[in-house]
Amino acid sequence: MSEKFEIPFKSDMVPKLLEPETKIQFRCHKGISCFNACCKHADISLTPYDILRLKDRLGMDSSEFLKKHAAPFEMDADKVPGVKLRTDDEGACLFVTDEGCSVYEDRPTACRYYPVGHLAMKPKDSPTEKTSYFLVKEEHCKGHEEPREITIADYRKEQGVETYDDMNREWLQVMLKKKSAGPTVGKPPEMSLQLFFMCSYDLDRFRRFVLSDSFKQTYKLEDSFYQEVMEDDIALMKFGFRLMKQVLFGELTIPEHEGVWDKRFEARKDVFELRRQAEIALRQKADDDKYKDGV
Ligand code: SF4
Ligand code: SF4
Repeated sequence: MSEKFEIPFKSDMVPKLLEPETKIQFRCHKGISCFNACCKHADISLTPYDILRLKDRLGMDSSEFLKKHAAPFEMDADKVPGVKLRTDDEGACLFVTDEGCSVYEDRPTACRYYPVGHLAMKPKDSPTEKTSYFLVKEEHCKGHEEPREITIADYRKEQGVETYDDMNREWLQVMLKKKSAGPTVGKPPEMSLQLFFMCSYDLDRFRRFVLSDSFKQTYKLEDSFYQEVMEDDIALMKFGFRLMKQVLFGELTIPEHEGVWDKRFEARKDVFELRRQAEIALRQKADDDKYKDGV
């Protein structure tokens, strides 16, 4: 099965896929001649759990973190939103110092994995996804010349990526589902993309949304649930993954109040009709423009 995928750092190489037990030759340490070179050309995509850890580390809420430390990008042709760590004009990560990474204990998943890349695929007819690994070899990185061999599995342990992968597993499933649904489901509507962004990256805004009256009128959840997500970022993040699966793919795991969507539709009928008419007018105008010069 062929898949397109992104590697965390820029490279033109075609990777050879590796298994967890494959040994690599690599060691990174403070005394190495290239120390910090990778962080000065950083291209780091962030996962939900990366943002949760970094915002707590910096004592910020998620919206403030996104504003100060993240840059948006589109993850695919359907404009599914992603965020990367912001860099300075030369491409250096804002967290790099002469002493190394200033957020080391909470550094993102891609930084932990480097120079190992990882790629999740869901083989056809398999209920679970499979992760393959590959090695990124870049000119500036001298860690590959260090005399140490380590398996990918041990390297993942050493770098603490297991917790990060566990935390992000359901989010990855959402993305794999979106990918495997392909063009048959069409482009996701703007509202779905906004929900994806909020649930994935802007946790504190998502919390306000979950605690709002309109959310409580839609979903049938116990008071203890609201208490938990008020206090616990991880519980809230995981609930966000469930909500995305429900809203985007119809996997019903969160009970809804009876007839709530009919009531909503009734209340907003006029708005929907106006929107429909505006869309028809826009389409007509696009058709008129297309044929104007041709006839
Ligand atoms: S977060 Fe830390 S490890 Fe990652 S690129 Fe920035 S300085 Fe380097
Ligand atoms: S060995 Fe590689 S990962 Fe370590 S500091 Fe040098 S460039 Fe970065």
